[in-house]
Amino acid sequence: MKKRLLLIITVAVVLLSVAAVAGILLHFGSEPDALLTTEDFGLLLNQTSASAQTQPTDGTDQSIGNYIETTTAAPTTPAPTTAPLPAGRQFCVITSPFADTWSGLASDDTFTPMCTTLVQGTIDYITGQSRVYDEEEKEWRDFYLLASGRKVRTDAVQFLSPDANFGDNAVTVVSSETQNGDLVIRLRCLWQAPYSFEFSGQEYYTKNNKHYHINAFTADKIQFTFYHTTSAQGDIDVSGSTTVSNAYWTVDTEHKTASLTMPLRAVGRYYGYTMRREADGTLSLTVKRKPAGISGARIMLDPGHGGKDSGALGFGGAVYESQVNFALAVATKQALERRGATVLFTRVDDVYLSLEERKQIARTANPDVFLSIHCNAAENKTRFGTSTYYFRPLSQPLAASVYQRLLSVYQNDFYAGDWTRRSKAGEGANFHPFSVTRLEECPSILIETGYVTNDAECTLLLSAANRDKLGDAIAAGIADYLSRE
Ligand SMILES: [Zn+2]
Repeated sequence: MKKRLLLIITVAVVLLSVAAVAGILLHFGSEPDALLTTEDFGLLLNQTSASAQTQPTDGTDQSIGNYIETTTAAPTTPAPTTAPLPAGRQFCVITSPFADTWSGLASDDTFTPMCTTLVQGTIDYITGQSRVYDEEEKEWRDFYLLASGRKVRTDAVQFLSPDANFGDNAVTVVSSETQNGDLVIRLRCLWQAPYSFEFSGQEYYTKNNKHYHINAFTADKIQFTFYHTTSAQGDIDVSGSTTVSNAYWTVDTEHKTASLTMPLRAVGRYYGYTMRREADGTLSLTVKRKPAGISGARIMLDPGHGGKDSGALGFGGAVYESQVNFALAVATKQALERRGATVLFTRVDDVYLSLEERKQIARTANPDVFLSIHCNAAENKTRFGTSTYYFRPLSQPLAASVYQRLLSVYQNDFYAGDWTRRSKAGEGANFHPFSVTRLEECPSILIETGYVTNDAECTLLLSAANRDKLGDAIAAGIADYLSRE
């Protein structure tokens, strides 16, 4: 009887707190189950960012309100081509501002982190077609296989004229200089041949049938390889770079590749690169500097889902993951700003953004660090705990740092008195090919803060005080990562 009374009281307390917090989340809705409106989101942000008025150090206006407007005007990809692949060699050009690529193997492993994003204007020829199911977006995707050995989505390219032809490419260094620690190399090519990026000195292991888990980011060199290329020349001055100690070319005339190899100054200390095509046709390759720390760093937060995409549902649909994610991102923003960081958002409203759009926003903003904030979901409603995810090796140390801080909140606070939960609250910092973690411009990770499908854990996430603890943990994890020597 006592037990039963205790249970009733517990349920009542839980429901009351859920109602209270859900009330806070949904308080302005004209209908009982209305989503947050644009105004509510603005209010949330304004209320929580009294200290948010600090302008970014680079002087540009990166306030989140302005930011979303510039990104909605970003170029859209052309409609998918339905024309059958003509016989013989068919050149294509990348028309998407940045096109992700996948493994060139027609069937099995599409999720290798060695696949380089190609910038608009890059040319290659098509050697085949394939169709692969995208488990994240739950859609079939059509791909072309490229001669440079990877797949690209058919809607990211257009055919060139059937008469198009290109001879062997040659690469020349136009200039190299250091800007605020970033190494900027300008390259001129005879034509816009494809390239790829690779680490050397990195080991991987297989777990749960995924082959690119790593224990630590151990790369000691980075390498850019240009295909269909038989000549490369020009010295590169790396003396001002904080990340690379040398740069040299090697040409393989048999396979027609030219590689630019750059040893890292310290093993595993590498923070991304950008490749941009300039108006004068040159290729601008920037190897990013080592960040100076959390203060002054530009952090992009991506609240998962939104708009028509509610994400996972808690309490039988009363709680939308998209809204919890946003509230968690706001808490994280405050914690980051207290540490002197500049915070950018992919969305500041309850709007739908595709995964491609989120990456496009990130690539345009070019932050130092990108984090997609989510809550987890499982068929098994008793599942609980936190986890983080990386795709590319450079992101693993960030995933590990943030994970340690989140785990500490669960173990030492939320589940402090519960030894069973305490020991199982950590699901690890894992490899997973989430779309938004494909960025090469900076370390990019996805965070699962807890399970909204678990009633007890969802209740934890609905508490503003708890979200502040999680936001602070995420900020502390980023700070840990950025302060590594
Ligand atoms: Zn999610």
